[in-house]
Amino acid sequence: MKIIDNINKVKAEFEIELKDCLDIENHQSLYRKYLSRKSGLIQGFFKEVASIPPEKKGMVGKEINDLKLMITAALDEKKKELETGDSRRELTDHSLPGRPQYIGRLHPLTIVLKEMISVFEGMGFEVVTGPEIETDFYNFEALNFPEDHPARDLQDTFFLDNGMLLRTHTSPVQIRVMEQQNPPIRIIAPGRVFRKDTPDATHTPVFNQVEGLYVDKNVTLAELKGSLLAFARALFGPKMDIRFRAGFFPFTEPSVEYDFTCVMCEGKGCSICKGTGWIEISGCGMVNPAVFEFVGIDPEEYTGFAWGMGLERIAMLKYRISDIRMFYENDLRFLDQF
Ligand SMILES: [Zn+2]
Repeated sequence: MKIIDNINKVKAEFEIELKDCLDIENHQSLYRKYLSRKSGLIQGFFKEVASIPPEKKGMVGKEINDLKLMITAALDEKKKELETGDSRRELTDHSLPGRPQYIGRLHPLTIVLKEMISVFEGMGFEVVTGPEIETDFYNFEALNFPEDHPARDLQDTFFLDNGMLLRTHTSPVQIRVMEQQNPPIRIIAPGRVFRKDTPDATHTPVFNQVEGLYVDKNVTLAELKGSLLAFARALFGPKMDIRFRAGFFPFTEPSVEYDFTCVMCEGKGCSICKGTGWIEISGCGMVNPAVFEFVGIDPEEYTGFAWGMGLERIAMLKYRISDIRMFYENDLRFLDQF
Protein backbone atom coordinates (compact mmCIF):
# COMPACT_ATOMS: atom_id res chain seq x y z
CA MET A 1 0.00 0.00 0.00
CA LYS A 2 1.21 3.44 -0.90
CA ILE A 3 0.50 4.93 2.52
CA ILE A 4 2.59 2.19 4.22
CA ASP A 5 5.50 2.95 1.84
CA ASN A 6 5.19 6.62 2.70
CA ILE A 7 5.17 5.89 6.43
CA ASN A 8 8.37 3.88 6.04
CA LYS A 9 9.96 6.63 3.97
CA VAL A 10 9.14 9.26 6.59
CA LYS A 11 10.52 7.00 9.30
CA ALA A 12 13.84 6.59 7.44
CA GLU A 13 14.03 10.31 6.75
CA PHE A 14 13.39 11.13 10.39
CA GLU A 15 16.16 8.82 11.56
CA ILE A 16 18.68 10.56 9.30
CA GLU A 17 17.54 14.05 10.31
CA LEU A 18 17.64 13.12 13.98
CA LYS A 19 21.29 12.09 13.68
CA ASP A 20 22.13 15.45 12.13
CA CYS A 21 20.23 17.40 14.78
CA LEU A 22 22.83 19.24 16.85
CA ASP A 23 21.00 22.18 18.37
CA ILE A 24 17.69 23.30 19.83
CA GLU A 25 16.65 25.32 16.76
CA ASN A 26 17.07 22.26 14.61
CA HIS A 27 15.19 20.22 17.18
CA GLN A 28 12.27 22.63 17.07
CA SER A 29 12.04 22.50 13.33
CA LEU A 30 12.03 18.69 13.44
CA TYR A 31 9.23 18.84 15.98
CA ARG A 32 7.21 21.12 13.72
CA LYS A 33 7.88 19.04 10.62
CA TYR A 34 6.79 15.74 12.14
CA LEU A 35 4.53 16.39 15.13
CA SER A 36 2.79 19.74 14.51
CA ARG A 37 -0.97 19.33 15.01
CA LYS A 38 -1.67 21.63 12.09
CA SER A 39 0.83 20.73 9.41
CA GLY A 40 2.97 17.83 10.73
CA LEU A 41 3.61 14.77 8.56
CA ILE A 42 2.03 12.47 11.20
CA GLN A 43 -1.15 14.53 11.24
CA GLY A 44 -1.18 14.31 7.44
CA PHE A 45 -1.12 10.51 7.63
CA PHE A 46 -4.05 10.48 10.07
CA LYS A 47 -6.04 12.61 7.61
CA GLU A 48 -5.35 10.07 4.85
CA VAL A 49 -6.79 7.22 6.91
CA ALA A 50 -10.29 8.52 6.13
CA SER A 51 -9.89 7.58 2.47
CA ILE A 52 -8.64 3.99 2.80
CA PRO A 53 -10.80 0.83 2.81
CA PRO A 54 -12.41 0.18 6.21
CA GLU A 55 -10.82 -3.27 6.67
CA LYS A 56 -7.32 -1.71 6.37
CA LYS A 57 -7.97 1.25 8.64
CA GLY A 58 -7.03 -0.52 11.87
CA MET A 59 -3.70 -1.76 10.54
CA VAL A 60 -2.69 1.55 8.98
CA GLY A 61 -3.83 3.50 12.02
CA LYS A 62 -1.60 1.37 14.21
CA GLU A 63 1.42 1.97 11.90
CA ILE A 64 0.90 5.73 12.09
CA ASN A 65 0.48 5.63 15.83
CA ASP A 66 3.65 3.57 16.29
CA LEU A 67 5.57 6.07 14.18
CA LYS A 68 4.17 8.96 16.19
CA LEU A 69 5.20 7.31 19.48
CA MET A 70 8.65 6.54 18.14
CA ILE A 71 9.25 10.09 16.90
CA THR A 72 7.89 11.63 20.10
CA ALA A 73 10.13 9.44 22.27
CA ALA A 74 13.18 10.07 20.10
CA LEU A 75 12.66 13.84 20.09
CA ASP A 76 12.17 13.88 23.88
CA GLU A 77 15.37 11.94 24.32
CA LYS A 78 17.23 14.27 21.90
CA LYS A 79 15.93 17.33 23.73
CA LYS A 80 17.33 16.08 27.03
CA GLU A 81 20.64 15.36 25.35
CA LEU A 82 20.84 18.86 23.85
CA GLU A 83 19.87 20.53 27.13
CA THR A 84 22.47 18.69 29.19
CA GLY A 85 25.15 19.32 26.53
CA ASP A 86 25.56 15.61 25.97
CA SER A 87 25.44 15.85 22.19
CA ARG A 88 27.76 14.77 19.45
CA ARG A 89 28.99 18.28 18.97
CA GLU A 90 30.21 18.41 22.54
CA LEU A 91 31.94 15.06 22.16
CA THR A 92 34.03 16.27 19.23
CA ASP A 93 37.62 16.99 20.22
CA HIS A 94 38.76 19.72 17.85
CA SER A 95 42.36 19.38 18.90
CA LEU A 96 42.67 15.89 17.40
CA PRO A 97 44.76 15.68 14.20
CA GLY A 98 42.75 15.16 10.99
CA ARG A 99 42.54 11.83 9.21
CA PRO A 100 44.74 11.74 6.09
CA GLN A 101 42.86 11.62 2.79
CA TYR A 102 44.20 9.20 0.19
CA ILE A 103 44.45 10.85 -3.18
CA GLY A 104 43.97 8.63 -6.22
CA ARG A 105 46.79 8.54 -8.72
CA LEU A 106 47.75 6.85 -11.97
CA HIS A 107 49.43 3.45 -11.93
CA PRO A 108 53.09 3.65 -13.02
CA LEU A 109 52.30 1.49 -16.07
CA THR A 110 49.55 3.91 -17.08
CA ILE A 111 51.91 6.87 -16.68
CA VAL A 112 54.57 5.26 -18.88
CA LEU A 113 52.05 4.05 -21.45
CA LYS A 114 50.62 7.56 -21.79
CA GLU A 115 54.11 8.91 -22.31
CA MET A 116 54.94 6.24 -24.92
CA ILE A 117 51.70 6.91 -26.78
CA SER A 118 52.36 10.62 -26.84
CA VAL A 119 55.87 10.08 -28.28
CA PHE A 120 54.64 7.77 -31.03
CA GLU A 121 51.62 9.94 -31.78
CA GLY A 122 54.08 12.76 -32.31
CA MET A 123 55.67 10.63 -35.06
CA GLY A 124 52.27 10.09 -36.69
CA PHE A 125 51.37 6.70 -35.22
CA GLU A 126 47.74 6.05 -34.31
CA VAL A 127 46.64 3.89 -31.35
CA VAL A 128 44.56 0.80 -32.13
CA THR A 129 43.52 -2.13 -29.97
CA GLY A 130 42.39 -5.68 -30.61
CA PRO A 131 40.80 -8.62 -28.78
CA GLU A 132 42.67 -10.47 -26.03
CA ILE A 133 41.00 -13.75 -26.98
CA GLU A 134 42.27 -14.69 -30.41
CA THR A 135 42.15 -17.43 -33.01
CA ASP A 136 45.14 -19.49 -34.02
CA PHE A 137 44.95 -17.75 -37.40
CA TYR A 138 45.55 -14.23 -36.08
CA ASN A 139 47.94 -15.16 -33.29
CA PHE A 140 50.13 -17.61 -35.25
CA GLU A 141 49.19 -18.63 -38.79
CA ALA A 142 48.86 -15.21 -40.45
CA LEU A 143 52.08 -14.19 -38.69
CA ASN A 144 53.87 -16.98 -40.49
CA PHE A 145 54.45 -19.24 -37.47
CA PRO A 146 55.08 -22.77 -38.77
CA GLU A 147 52.85 -25.59 -37.44
CA ASP A 148 55.63 -26.94 -35.22
CA HIS A 149 56.83 -23.59 -33.82
CA PRO A 150 57.61 -23.89 -30.08
CA ALA A 151 55.42 -20.84 -29.24
CA ARG A 152 52.38 -22.92 -30.30
CA ASP A 153 53.20 -25.42 -27.57
CA LEU A 154 50.63 -26.07 -24.84
CA GLN A 155 53.47 -25.33 -22.43
CA ASP A 156 53.63 -21.71 -23.55
CA THR A 157 50.17 -20.70 -24.69
CA PHE A 158 46.85 -20.59 -22.83
CA PHE A 159 44.42 -22.45 -25.11
CA LEU A 160 40.71 -22.21 -24.34
CA ASP A 161 38.22 -25.10 -24.53
CA ASN A 162 36.50 -23.59 -27.58
CA GLY A 163 39.67 -23.70 -29.68
CA MET A 164 40.49 -20.02 -29.14
CA LEU A 165 43.54 -18.84 -27.21
CA LEU A 166 44.73 -15.91 -25.10
CA ARG A 167 46.95 -13.87 -27.41
CA THR A 168 50.64 -14.39 -26.69
CA HIS A 169 51.61 -11.05 -28.25
CA THR A 170 49.97 -7.92 -29.67
CA SER A 171 51.03 -8.81 -33.23
CA PRO A 172 47.53 -10.15 -34.17
CA VAL A 173 46.44 -6.49 -34.14
CA GLN A 174 48.83 -5.88 -37.07
CA ILE A 175 47.01 -8.55 -39.08
CA ARG A 176 43.57 -7.20 -38.20
CA VAL A 177 44.56 -3.67 -39.21
CA MET A 178 46.27 -4.71 -42.46
CA GLU A 179 43.21 -6.76 -43.44
CA GLN A 180 40.98 -3.70 -43.08
CA GLN A 181 43.15 -0.83 -44.16
CA ASN A 182 45.25 -0.01 -47.18
CA PRO A 183 48.76 1.45 -46.77
CA PRO A 184 50.03 3.85 -45.62
CA ILE A 185 49.51 2.32 -42.17
CA ARG A 186 51.14 3.73 -39.07
CA ILE A 187 49.83 2.21 -35.84
CA ILE A 188 50.82 1.31 -32.32
CA ALA A 189 48.86 -1.37 -30.49
CA PRO A 190 49.21 -1.41 -26.72
CA GLY A 191 47.58 -4.22 -24.76
CA ARG A 192 47.76 -7.20 -22.44
CA VAL A 193 49.32 -10.49 -23.55
CA PHE A 194 49.35 -13.89 -21.87
CA ARG A 195 52.00 -16.57 -21.57
CA LYS A 196 52.43 -19.58 -19.32
CA ASP A 197 55.38 -18.11 -17.47
CA THR A 198 56.16 -18.78 -13.82
CA PRO A 199 56.26 -15.40 -12.07
CA ASP A 200 59.73 -14.19 -11.09
CA ALA A 201 61.55 -10.85 -11.04
CA THR A 202 61.30 -10.47 -14.83
CA HIS A 203 58.32 -12.65 -15.83
CA THR A 204 54.56 -12.64 -15.20
CA PRO A 205 51.88 -14.67 -17.02
CA VAL A 206 50.14 -11.41 -17.98
CA PHE A 207 52.04 -8.39 -19.17
CA ASN A 208 51.68 -5.53 -21.65
CA GLN A 209 53.20 -5.00 -25.05
CA VAL A 210 53.27 -1.98 -27.27
CA GLU A 211 53.36 -3.15 -30.86
CA GLY A 212 54.30 -0.82 -33.69
CA LEU A 213 53.70 -1.16 -37.43
CA TYR A 214 54.51 1.09 -40.37
CA VAL A 215 53.64 0.05 -43.93
CA ASP A 216 54.15 2.23 -46.97
CA LYS A 217 56.16 2.43 -50.17
CA ASN A 218 59.94 2.41 -49.63
CA VAL A 219 59.93 1.91 -45.87
CA THR A 220 63.44 0.97 -44.72
CA LEU A 221 65.23 -0.68 -41.81
CA ALA A 222 67.07 2.62 -41.25
CA GLU A 223 63.72 4.33 -40.60
CA LEU A 224 62.88 1.65 -38.07
CA LYS A 225 66.15 2.28 -36.28
CA GLY A 226 65.59 6.04 -36.41
CA SER A 227 62.06 5.74 -35.01
CA LEU A 228 63.15 3.55 -32.09
CA LEU A 229 66.12 5.82 -31.37
CA ALA A 230 63.87 8.90 -31.34
CA PHE A 231 61.58 7.07 -28.94
CA ALA A 232 64.48 6.08 -26.65
CA ARG A 233 65.76 9.66 -26.51
CA ALA A 234 62.29 11.09 -25.86
CA LEU A 235 61.80 8.74 -22.92
CA PHE A 236 65.28 8.42 -21.46
CA GLY A 237 67.16 11.52 -22.61
CA PRO A 238 69.54 12.65 -25.37
CA LYS A 239 72.41 10.35 -24.37
CA MET A 240 70.51 7.23 -25.45
CA ASP A 241 71.71 5.17 -28.37
CA ILE A 242 70.38 2.04 -30.03
CA ARG A 243 72.03 -1.19 -31.16
CA PHE A 244 70.67 -3.84 -33.54
CA ARG A 245 71.67 -7.51 -33.30
CA ALA A 246 70.62 -10.22 -35.75
CA GLY A 247 67.54 -12.10 -34.57
CA PHE A 248 64.80 -14.37 -35.84
CA PHE A 249 61.00 -13.98 -35.77
CA PRO A 250 58.62 -15.69 -38.19
CA PHE A 251 56.79 -12.45 -39.05
CA THR A 252 59.76 -10.23 -39.86
CA GLU A 253 62.57 -10.60 -42.39
CA PRO A 254 65.23 -9.50 -41.66
CA SER A 255 64.62 -9.66 -37.90
CA VAL A 256 66.69 -7.90 -35.29
CA GLU A 257 66.85 -7.72 -31.54
CA TYR A 258 67.40 -4.19 -30.30
CA ASP A 259 69.15 -2.78 -27.25
CA PHE A 260 69.15 0.70 -25.72
CA THR A 261 72.07 2.32 -23.95
CA CYS A 262 72.06 1.13 -20.33
CA VAL A 263 70.07 3.74 -18.41
CA MET A 264 71.91 2.96 -15.18
CA CYS A 265 75.48 3.65 -16.33
CA GLU A 266 74.77 5.59 -19.55
CA GLY A 267 76.82 3.06 -21.50
CA LYS A 268 79.90 2.94 -19.31
CA GLY A 269 79.21 -0.61 -18.15
CA CYS A 270 77.76 -1.70 -14.82
CA SER A 271 76.44 -4.79 -13.07
CA ILE A 272 72.93 -4.30 -14.51
CA CYS A 273 74.14 -4.40 -18.12
CA LYS A 274 76.86 -6.94 -17.22
CA GLY A 275 79.53 -4.45 -18.26
CA THR A 276 78.30 -4.16 -21.88
CA GLY A 277 76.71 -0.70 -21.59
CA TRP A 278 73.58 -2.03 -23.38
CA ILE A 279 70.18 -3.22 -22.16
CA GLU A 280 68.08 -5.64 -24.23
CA ILE A 281 64.68 -4.21 -25.09
CA SER A 282 62.89 -6.42 -27.57
CA GLY A 283 62.61 -7.52 -31.20
CA CYS A 284 61.73 -5.81 -34.45
CA GLY A 285 62.30 -6.09 -38.18
CA MET A 286 60.93 -5.64 -41.67
CA VAL A 287 57.48 -7.16 -42.20
CA ASN A 288 57.91 -10.59 -43.79
CA PRO A 289 56.50 -10.61 -47.36
CA ALA A 290 54.70 -13.85 -46.40
CA VAL A 291 52.66 -11.85 -43.85
CA PHE A 292 51.74 -9.29 -46.52
CA GLU A 293 50.46 -12.13 -48.69
CA PHE A 294 48.18 -13.33 -45.88
CA VAL A 295 46.48 -9.93 -45.65
CA GLY A 296 46.42 -9.12 -49.37
CA ILE A 297 49.05 -6.36 -49.47
CA ASP A 298 51.38 -6.52 -52.48
CA PRO A 299 54.93 -7.11 -51.15
CA GLU A 300 56.35 -5.89 -54.47
CA GLU A 301 54.78 -2.48 -53.96
CA TYR A 302 54.97 -2.06 -50.20
CA THR A 303 57.45 -2.63 -47.41
CA GLY A 304 56.99 -2.12 -43.71
CA PHE A 305 58.56 -2.43 -40.30
CA ALA A 306 57.21 -3.69 -37.00
CA TRP A 307 58.47 -3.76 -33.46
CA GLY A 308 57.42 -5.17 -30.13
CA MET A 309 58.14 -3.57 -26.79
CA GLY A 310 57.33 -4.61 -23.24
CA LEU A 311 55.57 -1.84 -21.34
CA GLU A 312 56.71 -3.25 -17.98
CA ARG A 313 60.30 -3.45 -19.24
CA ILE A 314 60.30 0.22 -20.25
CA ALA A 315 58.66 1.25 -16.97
CA MET A 316 61.20 -0.79 -14.97
CA LEU A 317 64.07 0.99 -16.72
CA LYS A 318 62.45 4.39 -16.37
CA TYR A 319 61.77 4.08 -12.64
CA ARG A 320 64.67 1.72 -11.80
CA ILE A 321 62.30 -1.02 -10.63
CA SER A 322 64.02 -4.36 -10.17
CA ASP A 323 61.00 -6.71 -9.87
CA ILE A 324 58.14 -6.81 -12.38
CA ARG A 325 55.77 -8.27 -9.77
CA MET A 326 55.70 -4.91 -7.97
CA PHE A 327 53.36 -3.62 -10.70
CA TYR A 328 50.71 -6.18 -9.84
CA GLU A 329 50.86 -6.49 -6.07
CA ASN A 330 48.81 -3.33 -5.43
CA ASP A 331 51.02 -2.40 -2.50
CA LEU A 332 50.21 1.22 -1.66
CA ARG A 333 53.72 1.79 -0.32
CA PHE A 334 54.93 1.16 -3.88
CA LEU A 335 52.09 2.86 -5.77
CA ASP A 336 52.21 5.97 -3.58
CA GLN A 337 55.62 6.84 -5.01
CA PHE A 338 54.35 7.73 -8.47
ZN1 LIG B 1 74.97 -0.38 -17.26
